[in-house]
Amino acid sequence: MLSLIDRRKLSRSAHDFIDENRLHSLLDLRVGPERLDDVIAKSMSKQPLSVDETAVLLAADRPEMVEKIYDAARRLKQDVYGNRIVLFAPLYVGNECTNDCQYCAFRRSNPDVVRRTLDEDELRQQVLALERKGHKRLILVFGEHPHYDADFIADCVRHVYATRTGRGEIRRLNINAAPLDHDGYRIVKEAGIGTYQIFQETYHHDTYRRVHPADTRKGNYLWRLDGVARAMEAECDDVGIGALFGLYDWRFEVLGLVAHALHLQKHYNVGPHTISFPRLRPALGVKLHETHLVGDKDFKRLVAIIRLAVPYTGMILTAREPAEIRRAVLGFGVSQIDAGSRIELGGYTEVGDAQVMEREQFELGDIRSLDVVMRELLVDGYIPSFCTACYRLGRTGEHFMEFAIPGFIRNFCTPNALTTLMEYLVDYASPETRKAGEEAVRRELEKLPEGERKNQLRDRLRRIAESDERDLYF
Ligand code: SAM
Ligand code: SF4
Repeated sequence: MLSLIDRRKLSRSAHDFIDENRLHSLLDLRVGPERLDDVIAKSMSKQPLSVDETAVLLAADRPEMVEKIYDAARRLKQDVYGNRIVLFAPLYVGNECTNDCQYCAFRRSNPDVVRRTLDEDELRQQVLALERKGHKRLILVFGEHPHYDADFIADCVRHVYATRTGRGEIRRLNINAAPLDHDGYRIVKEAGIGTYQIFQETYHHDTYRRVHPADTRKGNYLWRLDGVARAMEAECDDVGIGALFGLYDWRFEVLGLVAHALHLQKHYNVGPHTISFPRLRPALGVKLHETHLVGDKDFKRLVAIIRLAVPYTGMILTAREPAEIRRAVLGFGVSQIDAGSRIELGGYTEVGDAQVMEREQFELGDIRSLDVVMRELLVDGYIPSFCTACYRLGRTGEHFMEFAIPGFIRNFCTPNALTTLMEYLVDYASPETRKAGEEAVRRELEKLPEGERKNQLRDRLRRIAESDERDLYF
């Protein structure tokens, strides 16, 4: 398969930067409390960690050390992101797939899954259903198939943005699909995408080969590893990386993710916009090998460690995880979650309360409604946000980093989170959620210093509550 992909199509930075021997040797590290404190201090000064420094956090497994890491991750999250949690929903467009990933129900060798690609009207119906619940940010998900080329993805993107109902609209559309070439990324960028996400799944070469057969497009490790670098070169400057935890040693995957983030930082002056860390879930016809499945304790550790390693990278926790785990790890690192998610094709209008395994890629752990998740967040002291301001004002990629400075959260992120929250409360929330939300807005307003920005914010919140004005971002 390697030969099928023209090397000239790779990025200028393309090479296999995952040095397995080195990463493995770092997993044998022993650390004392002083070295751990040094590394934590570096994170707290908001500097990205090197791979070696991340290995120190991985080696720190004594209970008091793990507590220190949790505590630091909590503080760092609060410092960089405040108590906002951004909400989105996934929208599966098509599950045709020419790959044969051993962990996925959509793999080509699975005869039992129902294959489907939403047509324009079906896509529209899904988007309308999501807008009616209050969603403003979606991620479109595709299998890898010649039908789902860049033009097709771009058409879907334009179609979604054009689908509106009442006050409902989608303001940011991210993509999770197969890696493209430069021209392909330009086409989807032109259609107005937000982040382009590609998960490497596993950074461990042998495991990668085992779960992705060589005669498939995904079987090419380097083509995939290089996928987000090509995207950046084609001006998709917000990219997302991820690993599927459970295929190989989770500590190795964390080092792989950090190596990937540093590679992008080195060659493109900016790291990934987001990191995802899905855990393997049961899926139709998939036998999960127990060896590397990640337990809840290790999962919490890995979330906190990633937070400390990449202070400015958004971290996405999906509804693969059950509600109680989501709640437990939100505080030490996560910046985005999906809610009210259904991943069956057509799932937002056609299925009932139970999941339909024949129609989904894997089983979700949390299918509570958006309203219920919003209420829990509010009661727990978070500000759920649907903010899309940065991307629409060109604060992306390298430019986004310039804004990730002290005062930015207070002046932009919190106000934008509150105005988008207010829109939700007025337009979509149940009475209980609205009550919890209005209380949260009052609480947050009290915390903001008096001044021009606070006056502007008060004015906008009032206009949203009393009129049809919407989308009033800073
Ligand atoms: N088909 C594209 C690809 O593979 O890049 C798009 C992404 S796929 C539809 C979304 C992601 O779901 C995959 O990258 C993989 O990490 C994850 N996934 C697949 N099977 C899974 C499973 N059984 N449990 C949890 N996540 C899974
Ligand atoms: Fe296809 Fe993606 Fe599933 Fe692999 S993970 S079989 S590429 S849909």
